[in-house]
Amino acid sequence: MFKKNLLVAIASILLSSAAYAGHWTYEGDEGPEHWGDLSPDNYACSKGKTQTPIDIEHEVKAEIHPIKFEYTTDGSEIFNNGHTVQVSVAPGSSIMVDGKAFQLKQFHFHTPSENLVHGKPYAMELHLVHADADGNLAVVGVMIQKGEENPVLAELWKQMPNTADGNHPLEAKVNPASLLPEKRDYYRFDGSLTTPPCSEGVRWLVMKDPITASEEQVEKFAKAVHEHNARPVQPVGARVILTN
Ligand SMILES: [Zn+2]
Repeated sequence: MFKKNLLVAIASILLSSAAYAGHWTYEGDEGPEHWGDLSPDNYACSKGKTQTPIDIEHEVKAEIHPIKFEYTTDGSEIFNNGHTVQVSVAPGSSIMVDGKAFQLKQFHFHTPSENLVHGKPYAMELHLVHADADGNLAVVGVMIQKGEENPVLAELWKQMPNTADGNHPLEAKVNPASLLPEKRDYYRFDGSLTTPPCSEGVRWLVMKDPITASEEQVEKFAKAVHEHNARPVQPVGARVILTN
């Protein structure tokens, strides 16, 4: 009898914590300062030492190799997951970093930017998320500043899902390379996922040059994510930020 009750108790704790871990927000009781308390899985959100985003400053010039982009496939689906608007990319696109291929899985957006550059936030930030064969992650960040309308975002935004209502096949042919700046100098640092569970060991590669989006384009995205979806900057700690 005791054993059965114990099992029921454990099962209910597991179920409730699993359900709870799945829910988080960008403000209030389940906002960024509470992510670490929402579930034991989110340990790194509060106790991690190499969390993202950061304020990129005191960077050190180094002989880091240019990132080799091989973006040969297009976006396949677009969806709103309640935290961001994300585009899945058909298999076959990759980057080469540290002599290893990282496959591009998806890209998504934040407003305002999550990372800052020398204290400056941008209107938005694009994250291109890649994984190598062992599941290690590499994220390419691209800052988006207000300016000219972006024709690629215009195509994507035509299908902007304003609510979390499942996947939509992407009608426009959008190659992710068309969202990269012309010049590809970058900052490099070790970091984490910027959403729960904030897992570390992520290679961060943030482009120095921004791309642009119009005021209307930024506003349209902000509406889809309930005004903002950026985690505040985290301590840099002992990390060194490299640049080429
Ligand atoms: Zn992101």
